Amino acid sequence: MQVIRTIKDLRSWRNEIGNSIVSLVPTMGYLHEGHLQLVEEANDQSDYTVLSLFVNPLQFGPNEDFDKYPRDEARDFELAEKAGVDVVFCPTSDELYGEEPSVQLIVTKRVNVLCGKSRPGHFDGVVTVVSKLFHLVQPHVACFGLKDAQQVAVIEGLVAALDFPVRIHRVATVREADGLAKSSRNVRLSAVERDMAPIVYEALCIGKTVLTTGGSANAAVETVRNKLADSAQGVFTIDYVEAYDFPSLTPDIQLNGEVLLAVACQFENARLIDNVLVQLPEKR
Ligand code: AMP
Repeated sequence: MQVIRTIKDLRSWRNEIGNSIVSLVPTMGYLHEGHLQLVEEANDQSDYTVLSLFVNPLQFGPNEDFDKYPRDEARDFELAEKAGVDVVFCPTSDELYGEEPSVQLIVTKRVNVLCGKSRPGHFDGVVTVVSKLFHLVQPHVACFGLKDAQQVAVIEGLVAALDFPVRIHRVATVREADGLAKSSRNVRLSAVERDMAPIVYEALCIGKTVLTTGGSANAAVETVRNKLADSAQGVFTIDYVEAYDFPSLTPDIQLNGEVLLAVACQFENARLIDNVLVQLPEKR
């Protein structure tokens, strides 16, 4: 496995491998089995897998956890190598962004809801870094986790809007045995919070049942919200519980369509997000 830190070295590696099939797995590091599942699926579809490790300052708001985001490069290299990654690209922020940019990308669709609403500018930062990675790595395939379902929808919009010749491969959420979605931020939960955190997925599953048994999106949202509110005991607060058509992220839920039921909860030192995607039955 090669570790590449500069744009120059990445470009020369990319030129060397020519027409080989390349996949890209963009991450912020502190790898866990969710990331490794992306790598496994990337390996299956390409000759070379590039994993980027970069905590992107542009996608964090001023009062968010950029400084406290967990980082451990040596551990990430070891896990990446074991998983079969060919190249780890881990630039510094200066290397990637240099001086103040003269062009800015702004996402105009699918961001007035969910994390786009509670984290203004977040997805502008995401599409900026992902666009740069697409230009540098020139992947044929890029893997993204449905744990961040809004991110998948926004990136698919980016590819369509800017004509990137990249296929987006969606990867299902990897969970702990008790249902908690794997996340780099889980290490920042206290013991009491970690015990309580599986309620997020439990509540989503109850909401899913409401939808699959003919209940409305509003009924599912209310069910999830009530379950979370009844369980919170002051340990976390609910940021949002929302349901939208996927991937349009509009409230216009289609018969026979797919519904994204999504939650964000704020614990003391970690904001956790999770969701379920529900295929609606033909007849309701
Ligand atoms: P992050 O490092 O949190 O920015 O995540 C990098 C990529 O891994 C994103 O595409 C995430 O959606 C994906 N990812 C994070 N957690 C999981 C998980 N539990 N299961 C599947 N994919 C995940």
